[in-house]
Amino acid sequence: MPIFEYVCVSCGRRFEKLLKAGVTDNPDCPVCGSAEVNKQLSTFSAGASSSADCPSSGG
Ligand SMILES: [Zn+2]
Repeated sequence: MPIFEYVCVSCGRRFEKLLKAGVTDNPDCPVCGSAEVNKQLSTFSAGASSSADCPSSGG
């Protein structure tokens, strides 16, 4: 089943929602209830992490 990932614009919470075939309406944020959510692209393909972060040595 297609599971889409959303990110709430209001609180910034990320959540997944299972949408049935034919449903295109965006779900509401389960945290704050805001309808302002952005659908994220599902990233199934294994990709390398972006940006080269330096290994911070002890401190
Ligand atoms: Zn929210």
